[in-house]
Amino acid sequence: MTQNIVSLVESDQPKKWQEILSDLITDPKELLQLLQLDPSSQPPSLAAIDQFPLKVTRSFVEAMELGNWQDPLLRQVWPSKLEEAEISGFVSDPLMEAEANPVPGLLHKYHGRVLLTAVPHCAIHCRYCFRRHFNYGGNTPSQLQWNQVLDYIRSDQSIEEVILSGGDPLAASDRQLARLIGQLDEIPHLTTLRIHSRMPIVLPQRLSLE
Ligand code: SF4
Repeated sequence: MTQNIVSLVESDQPKKWQEILSDLITDPKELLQLLQLDPSSQPPSLAAIDQFPLKVTRSFVEAMELGNWQDPLLRQVWPSKLEEAEISGFVSDPLMEAEANPVPGLLHKYHGRVLLTAVPHCAIHCRYCFRRHFNYGGNTPSQLQWNQVLDYIRSDQSIEEVILSGGDPLAASDRQLARLIGQLDEIPHLTTLRIHSRMPIVLPQRLSLE
């Protein structure tokens, strides 16, 4: 059976990406209702929601198959009770990022490359996210701390590559991104900028030609 939801977006008028971002599905009951799934057959894990809340865009849900618990898109966002299992070897910081965090907002794990946690949130919560326990509170830099981040990069000429990550860096406004990218662009030893984002998939309206 392949039956998709016709439309979860009520208006024909294109919405601004900021409006879509402020209208995410965060209630498991609403999600299951839209997908015509019986909540009693697979109740969500309240502990998992408490640690990492449900969050998904309506357009991503629109691509899910009705009535299918095994839908791969649903499984990416559904807070299953399987998450409560204690599994030997599983840790909350699998990439050991806490040990590679010399200044707030910057991870320096590999030679020649740093990652900036440009924005502490995303348009979707992927259940598999390896940063679901990340210390965003300590890695959401103030303006002063962004200067520390830039100083750190300026002072290490071996750094050639910057990755904008998060969270999702495209959850920042164009103005914020332009400012940060402009500051990075003035650092002569940087040659590569990468942007790690799921926005093209979960909120394609975020992208523009500008
Ligand atoms: S950081 Fe990336 S993988 Fe993690 S929840 Fe956000 S979009 Fe998903």
